[in-house]
Amino acid sequence: MENNPNADRLDELMRLAARRRLDAVVVFGEANIRSLTGVVCDNGCLLLDVAGGRRVVFYTDFRYVPMVHRVAPWLRVRETRQGVTFMDRLRREGIRPKRLGYESSITAKRYLDLKKRFPKAALVDVNDDLLSKRAVKSVEEITRIAAAAALNDEIWSMAQKEIKPGMTEKAIQRVIQSLMIALGDGEAFETIVCAGANAAECHHVPDDTVWQKGEPLLVDMGVKLDGVCSDMTRNIKAARDVEYAKVYDIVLKANEAAIAAAKPGMTAGALDAVARKLIRKAGYGKAFGHSLGHGVGYEIHEEPCARQKSKTKLEAGMIVTIEPGVYLEGRLGVRIEDLVLITTTGCEVLSHSVK
Ligand code: ZN
Ligand code: ZN
Repeated sequence: MENNPNADRLDELMRLAARRRLDAVVVFGEANIRSLTGVVCDNGCLLLDVAGGRRVVFYTDFRYVPMVHRVAPWLRVRETRQGVTFMDRLRREGIRPKRLGYESSITAKRYLDLKKRFPKAALVDVNDDLLSKRAVKSVEEITRIAAAAALNDEIWSMAQKEIKPGMTEKAIQRVIQSLMIALGDGEAFETIVCAGANAAECHHVPDDTVWQKGEPLLVDMGVKLDGVCSDMTRNIKAARDVEYAKVYDIVLKANEAAIAAAKPGMTAGALDAVARKLIRKAGYGKAFGHSLGHGVGYEIHEEPCARQKSKTKLEAGMIVTIEPGVYLEGRLGVRIEDLVLITTTGCEVLSHSVK
């Protein structure tokens, strides 16, 4: 029988739940379920029955049962009937936890149902535990994310042959989107294309702005492949713009300094500070208003978040973006983003496109 590729993570969570004296944990988040079982399902409840002999049971509806049997033959699956909530079903099976672990990211509706069905249970939020377990990738996940990043590089290089001044941001976006659909599993997030001064908006939504000759172009893109995301930002530089060239150089130096500094044991906040100090010293501190980076995996934004003062320690196996930027409203914007893997000695850059 095929084994669970994420068995280690599931075992760790079960042990952690036992240490925290939880009788059971219920997991609903799609990416959390995927990271524990490999199953892709947006309507399921993964029960870790700690008190009941550390059983793992997956509840889902009719539509998903055959897929779960195929993808995770090792997993015990129970079908829920229409009109019966997961909480109803758990109660009917005699699950009566005194302390129940849950994700605070669930909907308010589900939370209220949880309270109603288990009125006596102490609800313990395990959201951060799930996110921190997901932050350290398995060897198999690293291989997949590296492949997604390599494909992202390839798509950017192909796109550059097709795009040219005179095209609108939307048209450029469509070129990239089509390549992502043709070669991967589509976009990990909506591709950002900013012509000229539009790049001063960090998350500009591509519109009918025409990319003029000589103007810079910023593209933030990530292809999805085999269920995982990639993320990279590149710029086609402005011609003969002194201020742009100066800002570009500062952002690039900040990006390179953070890459050189990234290593296990340092905090995510310290990594942010490496890039931020450099930008601040150059006089653009206020123009770098977002965090340095974020984890990437099944979702585009995961832990760890490399934000100011974050105490989260970087660990080998984490995959984070390093994306300093400088934004001057109405004038220009530069962001340079690479995806990096924290290794035992430093970091390995997974994005290889020319900066
Ligand atoms: Zn990005
Ligand atoms: Zn990013």
